[in-house]
Amino acid sequence: MNAKVIDGKLIAEQTRHSVAESVQTFREQTGIVPHLAAVLVGDDPASQVYVRNKEKACEKAGMVSTLHRLPVSTTQQELLELVQRLNTDRAVHGILVQLPLPKQIDATAVLDAVHPIKDVDAFHPENVGLMLQGRPRFLPCTPAGVMKMLEVSGTATAGQHAVIIGRSDIVGKPMAALLLQKGADATVTVCHSRTKNIAAICREADIIVAAVGIPEFVRGEMIRPGAVVIDVGINRVGDRLVGDVHYAEASAIASAITPVPGGVGPMTIAMLLQNTLKAARLQAGQA
Ligand code: NAD
Repeated sequence: MNAKVIDGKLIAEQTRHSVAESVQTFREQTGIVPHLAAVLVGDDPASQVYVRNKEKACEKAGMVSTLHRLPVSTTQQELLELVQRLNTDRAVHGILVQLPLPKQIDATAVLDAVHPIKDVDAFHPENVGLMLQGRPRFLPCTPAGVMKMLEVSGTATAGQHAVIIGRSDIVGKPMAALLLQKGADATVTVCHSRTKNIAAICREADIIVAAVGIPEFVRGEMIRPGAVVIDVGINRVGDRLVGDVHYAEASAIASAITPVPGGVGPMTIAMLLQNTLKAARLQAGQA
């Protein structure tokens, strides 16, 4: 079998186009331009690229984006003060604090300080709780991007066995919640670093979502013929970007697969734009 490629770049482009149209309508109706404020602490090269890409995408979609750069020596108090200023700035609709933060800063305290209605990454406990209860305000960007890819590629999830590898707060756990939700209706297994017999569990999967952070962790022999494989991983190996799935082996056995790069990565940004527009709508009193 040669797996169908689920083209994240294309699906993200279509999503961004549709967000741009909605932004245009919203601007005409309200005179408000959705505004994302990004906060970058330190000079981590990967974070700089991510933030720059998010800014560019915002501008292309007709939104405003401002970048607040702070030195690596920033104290937690200074960062909390900036977050508070952005929380009360009526011109700012979405706040994104780029992770990771320097070690002197308690990332949880900072993310908790972002006003839930401006929390476009959906990391605030209030938004996590709403999502878990099936009445989301904002959907977490990467898992929401995966759900969109499954939908657009025509991958049924109802009654299917989805195996997620990884239990992080950013990807694994919310991914499990979205696949389990009424409407998605998958049967979900979450594997992690202490799980036994991962290969055998994966071979039972109709859908595998790999979010491990280990290059090419999922090998061909772990995949049931015809399964759908979603690779969330982004790992730099030398000068190459490699996913958490061994692409050549997996694409020979899966029915559909996401590439790296050009898979889940672009979807994450598209979902961030969607959340920023939603934040502006909520703050303008629209549902
Ligand atoms: P993380 O390090 O927070 O979590 C990794 C998870 O993998 C942990 O829950 C851990 O239990 C599990 N794990 C580690 N070793 C394992 C093993 N040997 N067997 C089974 N499970 C194991 O990482 P994360 O933030 O969830 O990110 C995962 C990957 O996804 C990374 O490559 C990251 O770069 C990528 N990522 C991509 C996007 C995107 O937009 N595409 C967004 C976020 C993260």
